[in-house]
Amino acid sequence: MTSQFTILPNAAPTSAEDRAKLLENPGFGRVFTDHMVVVRYVEGKGWHDAEVKARGPLQIDPASAVLHYAQEIFEGMKAYRLGDGLALFRPEANAARFNLSARRMAMPDVPEDLFIEAVEQLVRIDRDWVPGGGGSLYLRPFMFANEVFLGVKPSSEYLFMVIASSVGAYFKGGKDSVTVWVSTDYTRAAPGGTGSAKCGGNYAASLLAQKQAIEQGCDQVVFLDAAERKWIEELGGMNVFFVMDDGSMVTPPLQGTILPGITRDSIIRLARDEGITVREEPYSYEQWKADARSGKLVETFACGTAAVVTAIGTVKGEDGEFTIGAGGTGQTTARLRDKLTGIQRGTVADPYGWVR
Ligand code: PMP
Repeated sequence: MTSQFTILPNAAPTSAEDRAKLLENPGFGRVFTDHMVVVRYVEGKGWHDAEVKARGPLQIDPASAVLHYAQEIFEGMKAYRLGDGLALFRPEANAARFNLSARRMAMPDVPEDLFIEAVEQLVRIDRDWVPGGGGSLYLRPFMFANEVFLGVKPSSEYLFMVIASSVGAYFKGGKDSVTVWVSTDYTRAAPGGTGSAKCGGNYAASLLAQKQAIEQGCDQVVFLDAAERKWIEELGGMNVFFVMDDGSMVTPPLQGTILPGITRDSIIRLARDEGITVREEPYSYEQWKADARSGKLVETFACGTAAVVTAIGTVKGEDGEFTIGAGGTGQTTARLRDKLTGIQRGTVADPYGWVR
């Protein structure tokens, strides 16, 4: 297929020496590569002017719709070193979810081949920014409304962009397990709302609860459902799994209020193929506490692209705290994590065709 992109290489890229320094300890989301992708959309004309060019500031009109009504969506995915080359993990799943988000926010679809080529072009031109070891290149495709108009309606103009960030561990210090805060003050999504879309507004609405979690000495917030404040939904940026003493697993079902995680989907597949029973069914905060105390629940883990698979060791809430198992990474969590990261990095065979 001929490329849809005009490539305009950065005339003053970061020196190899400066890049090596930045890649020594990149952390998460602060080290950016030399290029970005920009594709424009105008109603009636469709997607056009696809470019890979030097990363830099955008000029946005102060009346640009996104600045007022938050019509914006994004994705998060990673490129990994694999042998002498680089690999993406299930990029077509990110493309599909991007378009589900787009539809919910009354935005145009980005054709899957355009989405994937955009990501691949950026990875190709910035391939030297993929760290070695356990690091990866975090890719952030996003789209926002760019019509200059203050009326409340779907924009007639959009930008689709991709930027990339060299990343190490998501949680500081690459912790063995994390502590979470169960928010009973705030919820993230209501039935009929935008919970299953990856739109910026969902994250804006979650920040106060996440701030509360940090103030309580926790790493992440756990949200409960909006209607009953009873059922566990997900974390601020991760899905959640519960491992029982009979070996079975439970994870909250996709009913429109949680993000359909690609890691979640992959873990369900890996677990079921190991013969593990995985139930996608509601699980309550009260049950979580009771099962952790009785020993019926032996592990809990969070999963997502950024944090991969991370054990939840301690759970805190308004009414106290409890520890899960011995508080560290349990056997099932470790095994599924190693299998998934092994597939992503090419050390474990990929019977699913997930690696591209
Ligand atoms: N839930 C939320 C709210 C998220 O932001 C993310 C990260 N995209 C996830 C779950 C996990 O999704 P994925 O496995 O596709 O990264």
